[in-house]
Amino acid sequence: MAIAYKHEASVEHGALIEVAPNVRRIVARNASPFTYHGTGTYVLGRGKVAVIDPGPLDQAHVDALLRGLGEEQITHVLITHTHNDHSPATRLLKERCDAPTYGFGAHGEGRYGGGAEIEEGADREFKPDIKVNDGELIACWGFDVECVYTPGHALNHMCFALPEQKILFSGDHVMGWSTTVVSPPDGDMGDYLKSLARLLDRDDAKLLPTHGTAIDDPKGFVQSLIEHRKGREQQVLAELKQGPSTIASMVPRMYKDVPSWLHPAAERSVYAHVLHMLERGVLHCDGEPLLSTTYRLAL
Ligand SMILES: [Zn+2]
Repeated sequence: MAIAYKHEASVEHGALIEVAPNVRRIVARNASPFTYHGTGTYVLGRGKVAVIDPGPLDQAHVDALLRGLGEEQITHVLITHTHNDHSPATRLLKERCDAPTYGFGAHGEGRYGGGAEIEEGADREFKPDIKVNDGELIACWGFDVECVYTPGHALNHMCFALPEQKILFSGDHVMGWSTTVVSPPDGDMGDYLKSLARLLDRDDAKLLPTHGTAIDDPKGFVQSLIEHRKGREQQVLAELKQGPSTIASMVPRMYKDVPSWLHPAAERSVYAHVLHMLERGVLHCDGEPLLSTTYRLAL
């Protein structure tokens, strides 16, 4: 099943623009191959507002956000996960307002501290003032925000929902313009697939990701992402049916239609698949399962 990507032709950087009733977005000037047009910082409510993902450490972005808000007051700052394009601007915002920050936890909390960095890298400084867990409701000014824990892209990834409007702020868990980077050890393919399946059980009408435009058919889109990953796993199986192999030799064949400068990122993703398949006993390897290890099918 092909993924019906949602493209956004252009954005007006630095402008706070309504994207749904009581939801505004301002996009930072950090466009890149991993961030699309840049980080979309969302503002929820009017007058006393909640902000999701203040963005990269960019004073101009924070200034533009505050200019856009004028006399309005930020009462809550919500963080989807601790990557450098999402959480660092919280530190700049803290100098200008005293709103508490909410998030699942510090980077890698509960598991690993490290891992290769192929996208924007980890923000190891951020610690939420208030830790939130799956299913919690954060009472904001005139509306509640529901926390939906969705590890996979990052161990501490949290989506946030406006239940009445059936809107889910999907962070980097589900994006319309691209598949999500799942890079071990902080990224975990088993977690990611479970977190995708969770969205199929919800009745969100719209996903608003950090990068790119709205997804108005959440279930169909999420289903296509799941199928895409199943297809990748089938490709790994087909490769290893030919005999034991390394990730580095499988990737150029598996990602023929992807430019070679993206192959290092693809290797991290295949590594995530391989670890998930090892966990389930589908594959074997001798010694430690590293990126460079030779893998083979289990008998
Ligand atoms: Zn991220």
